[in-house]
Amino acid sequence: MTPHNPLPRFSGKALAAAYLLTALIPLLLARLTSAAPMDAWEYAAAAMGVIALWGMAVQFVTSGRFEAVSGQLGIDKIMAFHKFAASWLALALVLHPLAYVFPTWLDNPDLGWIRLRFYLTDPAYRTGVIALSSVLVMIISSILRDWLPWPYEAWRLAHLLLGALAVLAGLHHAWAVGRFSADGALAWFWGATALGVITVIGVLYGWRWWLLHRRPWRLAAIRQRAERMWELDIQPAPGTPAMDYFAGQFVWMTEGKRRFPLFDHPFSIADSPQRPGLSLLIKEAGDFTNQIGHLPEGRVIGIDGPYGEFTTQAHPAQAYLLFGGGVGIAPLLGIIRDMVARGETRPVRLAYAVGQPANFACLEELRAAANSLDLKLWLMSEDPPLEADMTLGRLSREHLSSMLEGLDPAHSKALLCGPGPMVVAVSDMLLDLGMPMQNVVYERFDYAGGASSRQDRARSRNILGIGVALTAAVAGFALSF
Ligand SMILES: Cc1cc2nc3c(=O)[nH]c(=O)nc-3n(C[C@H](O)[C@H](O)[C@H](O)COP(=O)(O)OP(=O)(O)OC[C@H]3O[C@@H](n4cnc5c(N)ncnc54)[C@H](O)[C@@H]3O)c2cc1C
Repeated sequence: MTPHNPLPRFSGKALAAAYLLTALIPLLLARLTSAAPMDAWEYAAAAMGVIALWGMAVQFVTSGRFEAVSGQLGIDKIMAFHKFAASWLALALVLHPLAYVFPTWLDNPDLGWIRLRFYLTDPAYRTGVIALSSVLVMIISSILRDWLPWPYEAWRLAHLLLGALAVLAGLHHAWAVGRFSADGALAWFWGATALGVITVIGVLYGWRWWLLHRRPWRLAAIRQRAERMWELDIQPAPGTPAMDYFAGQFVWMTEGKRRFPLFDHPFSIADSPQRPGLSLLIKEAGDFTNQIGHLPEGRVIGIDGPYGEFTTQAHPAQAYLLFGGGVGIAPLLGIIRDMVARGETRPVRLAYAVGQPANFACLEELRAAANSLDLKLWLMSEDPPLEADMTLGRLSREHLSSMLEGLDPAHSKALLCGPGPMVVAVSDMLLDLGMPMQNVVYERFDYAGGASSRQDRARSRNILGIGVALTAAVAGFALSF
């Protein structure tokens, strides 16, 4: 099946501009609404409340589950944005009551504290306090997620419920006591926002749940490919349409009776769209993946996808450098299988790094691909015993230089997928070797922070720029009266 790209792609700058412009809509509506005169701090407080409420609603579509959004920049960048945006909207929420009392506090600190206590305890403001508390609990539980004794699914459910509670309580607060939101155009805007959030939750957990049951897939075969690593051949059940995807994308997968979006897990498609069905390469990593190897053939599988832009089609180039660490080989295996199926002629260099040789998956197939494509392999293992074409140790600058030999870094693209430290090290070394930053693309299998590459830091600075622009919008609003 020849996949088509259904989505127009926008640059990060265009998406940032769209984010900022939509943030200005509620502020503009507030500016057009008449309210009792206040001082500049109170106007700023109101603007922060408006921006925070709008930002909380937008978090639902930047959660990585909407391909129309995450497919634009890749899951890595969207999740980085989602986390950053959470911190500035939490800051705006915390500052919202403080800015209201600040002028009083400057005049008379005791009266300032009394006013703040009133805002935090008076029943009229309770839904605002609920919204603020929900966001703070969400952020703290996300930072501590790896240390919390909860299964990932419990954290995810809590995250969803707290997010919905924060937005709904925030909307009630705006309608009940908001200086600009009680009636008029902004009140209607919040009505549309509430509808939007309810629709998003309905699509995510209602429509997708229905699709997972209406369009089941089946586990056709399962094979062990490396130590604690399994390859699943999944085929559409009769009546389920084939999936239109690009090699390198990923799907959300569930199985058996647990076919509900809350229980699904992301896995890269280690396959070519030229072949019917999907192949997933899964490494045992926890509750769900540890029982993958015991799934019986014929088991009903739920597939939601495709997602992501970790593909050669989204990143056209004259040549490709592929870097896979451990099970990070999965999307690259899909890309190579697709190149073999399509008879790719562009040069490809693949570095595949593992802890020990028993962790290499599908080696014979990769070696065979090297005979049919313009593909050179670098097989790296940190431990012996090595075979003739393997190298001991980690990828170094020298390995990367030799991979780049004969290629033009400006017209080549590097696709990296693997553990955080490997992605960071290789990405930075490629920049040192003259590769432009936009030519280095990576996808991490874990959203949790960890070390950051130069590209991560550049991305953080850009995202911070959005926060600064929002701060300027709040200040502009406050000073415009
Ligand atoms: C875009 C993407 C593609 C991936 N592709 C592959 C692949 O091809 N092969 C492979 O083996 N692994 C892949 N992963 C990782 C895989 O999703 C996790 O290893 C798996 O979900 C772990 O679930 P668990 O219950 O077994 O382990 P747990 O112990 O529950 O989780 C281990 C860690 O995995 C992450 N995780 C767990 N559940 C989810 C979830 N539902 N959504 C997002 N992250 C979760 C969390 O960071 C968690 O700390 C991919 C991850 C992402 C984000």
